Amino acid sequence: MTIRILPSGLVNRIAAGEVIERASSVVKELVENSLDAGASKIDISIEQGGKSAIIITDNGKGMSAAELPTAILRHATSKLPGEDLLNINFLGFRGEALPSIASVSRLRIVSREKDAENAWEITVDAGEASEPVPAAHAPGTRVEVRDLFYATPARLKFLKTDRTEANHVQDIVRRLAMAHPYVSFTLTIDGKTVLAADAAQGELLDATAKRLGALMGRDFSENMLAIATEKENATLTGAVSLPTYNRGTSTEQFLFVNHRPVRDRLLLGCLRAAYQDFLAHDRHPVAALFLDLPPEEVDVNVHPAKAEVRFRDQQQIRGLIISSLRRALEEAGFRASTTVAQATLQRFSTPGIPGRGSGNVSHFAETAYAYQALPPQAGGLFAGNAALAPQARLVEEALETLAQQPSPALQSYPLGAARAQLHETYIVAQTADGLVIVDQHAAHERLVYERMKQQMAEKGIARQKLLLPEVVELDSASAQQLLTRQEELSEMGLVIESFGDASIVVRETPALLGEVDVQALIRDLADSLAEFGEALALKEKIEHVCGTMACHGSVRAGKQLKLDEMNALLRQMEATPHSGQCNHGRPTYVELKLKDIERLFGRS
Ligand code: ADP
Ligand code: MG
Repeated sequence: MTIRILPSGLVNRIAAGEVIERASSVVKELVENSLDAGASKIDISIEQGGKSAIIITDNGKGMSAAELPTAILRHATSKLPGEDLLNINFLGFRGEALPSIASVSRLRIVSREKDAENAWEITVDAGEASEPVPAAHAPGTRVEVRDLFYATPARLKFLKTDRTEANHVQDIVRRLAMAHPYVSFTLTIDGKTVLAADAAQGELLDATAKRLGALMGRDFSENMLAIATEKENATLTGAVSLPTYNRGTSTEQFLFVNHRPVRDRLLLGCLRAAYQDFLAHDRHPVAALFLDLPPEEVDVNVHPAKAEVRFRDQQQIRGLIISSLRRALEEAGFRASTTVAQATLQRFSTPGIPGRGSGNVSHFAETAYAYQALPPQAGGLFAGNAALAPQARLVEEALETLAQQPSPALQSYPLGAARAQLHETYIVAQTADGLVIVDQHAAHERLVYERMKQQMAEKGIARQKLLLPEVVELDSASAQQLLTRQEELSEMGLVIESFGDASIVVRETPALLGEVDVQALIRDLADSLAEFGEALALKEKIEHVCGTMACHGSVRAGKQLKLDEMNALLRQMEATPHSGQCNHGRPTYVELKLKDIERLFGRS
């Protein structure tokens, strides 16, 4: 066996394996370099998913002829003036990107400092660098990466289709552009400009809001809650969606720490926890959140691509994020997303015969059709005088209801004045400029649920002593992790204590869970703590029980309501936070504006 020091070309290729996974990693590193160089305009262009070319041009501070050969050396950086890895003020600092990229592709850099007479150019072919030669270029830097991974065919094979790789590039450019609103960005894919964001002006919060609007679309702007909180030395800004505006995947969650895009599990866990009882498991909020804190409070040097970070004070960060999102959701009150009405209108205007629509619509339409086709029940409407009486009373009541004009005062409430109940399930209310349809069961269930939550918050969750304390064997890491959250768990009704190194003993459980499988509960909890840093498993169980109790304790679909009962329900909804959606992120009401209804009938 011979131990040898590896040649630097090979070392760089090994490093490239970590830093440069695919075309989008090249784009990320190069754009970050441009941002670090103080550029206010960055143009990105790729061809064939980045495999044949990635070209980044910036108007930053540029490099001199003397700096160019150093820039492509490993561990060469201008961004760590001292020795302090906890005081990082640039996006880069590892000095790895350029040598890594150079070792797996053909690289050309043309750069000119602001006051220099001309630009200088350097080329590197699979790690072999040329001498710098004079070139023509505007102040700033242009980096061209061609034939990515031609020097590492194994990696080349792992690349997906051009389209997929291009999507990854677009995603990272979007993220970087969100975090840097004062910089203008363009992204061109195979000659087509797919993203163009002009530099925003003004104060940072406004500039960021403008940039988010430009990048995330109007729907998001209409359905978002703005976040701006400050606690001790940390700030959280950005926007999150209303629960009813949700997605099937978490790809529309953009998180940033000190303006660095991250996919950090702690942060994703916080987001999940904040929406925990507003969304079903498989639905995800849309979010763009910027967490800013002093550099010494966060370690960004835990991941070669810097996608994950470590916080010095995790609890503080969790507290800040969860409480500010919860507050924003609370302030949203009963608001449900505007997209709900749009979706409703689309259903309305689905043309064609019942049963011939598409997807769900056709299914529902067919059921409705089948119902009508049933023969009238024997002993139905006209069966005899005795049976007629209640029907007649109903008709009378209905006529009375219709005769009552809603008072203008009631109409000015957001959810309007109740006018009628349809199918003993839906409340129809008239607002100043439209109509509202409420699902009475879903709405009331949410009201009962919110009341239960409030009571629990005020009085705490009742606990129940186990006759025999139960020992749960885990591994020592899981056991320790559970024990660090002892206090929080006991507030939720679960009392645990340490029992040897790798076990814990459970003494009390939340009374409302009744008899519970302690072993399974603790294991689920340990998993959710490990995965999200959150005691979601317990919260979800409690939520589920509350949800079930709320469901049983609320007015059913099919129950007749009087007008004043309906109005009371509407007023309660307006006064109760989170009443615009059920526990699964579905809306409890739909609002249609008169102008939309007019559109349906082709009146405008
Ligand atoms: P790092 O960004 O971690 O310092 P890189 O390998 O990405 O390492 O870059 C090495 C050095 O090259 C940087 O520290 C910087 O001084 C210089 N550099 C790279 N890209 C640019 C650019 N677009 N404009 C000006 N200087 C740059
Ligand atoms: Mg860099």
